[in-house]
Amino acid sequence: MRYLWATASHQGMVRENNEDAIFPTSSGESSDRVVLIVADGMGGHVAGEVASRIAINAAASSGLSAGDRVAAANRAIREEVAREPSLEGMGTTMTLLTVEDGVANLAHVGDSRAYMSRDGELTQISDDHNVAAEYVAMGQLSAEEATSHPQRHMLTRTLGLSRFVSIDEISIDLMPGDRLLLCSDGLTEMVPDNVIAKALGDGAPEEVAWELVELANDAGGVDNISVVVLDVLD
Ligand code: MG
Repeated sequence: MRYLWATASHQGMVRENNEDAIFPTSSGESSDRVVLIVADGMGGHVAGEVASRIAINAAASSGLSAGDRVAAANRAIREEVAREPSLEGMGTTMTLLTVEDGVANLAHVGDSRAYMSRDGELTQISDDHNVAAEYVAMGQLSAEEATSHPQRHMLTRTLGLSRFVSIDEISIDLMPGDRLLLCSDGLTEMVPDNVIAKALGDGAPEEVAWELVELANDAGGVDNISVVVLDVLD
């Protein structure tokens, strides 16, 4: 199988800096192993940018499984905080995908998302680790209500805040024609799933990635927007 990917990251229309980070920063094509990452940093001042960048560097450079890469990212942030205690409290989400031999391995912490588009149908394959999503899981809130719930931004899991973090891991057998999307909440807060599905329905990855950024900015762009699109070819 061959894989074709594109990435895009934009600060949006309101924020003055971009605390998101993506890997890689350029589009490409491979029939070997591919690693793709979206991280959405937080922590005030420059700390959010520092956290997402450290996390991505650690996760991208370790030759480990998807889950171990995310664990390495968490350790790297903790080590930086130990060196520079004023950075305590910085953290990041991470949604990381490794693709090899027709299998996608997803490792995920936070509220950035992974979606798969197969046969024209869009499915969110990651869970959101925030308070509103937990209410939904407990049956106390509908998925629809969660999209506007005030605690939807309150994360229940974040990299960088503690030595131990629980990482979701998901494995998917890929088929030619599959398209995967990783994105920060700057996209999903602004653009509903049915509009994302439509944008994913047509065009090359590069085109689609920037179209999604544009859709989020057209809707207000209140947060940083990061997008990774991967196509699975024969
Ligand atoms: Mg965000």
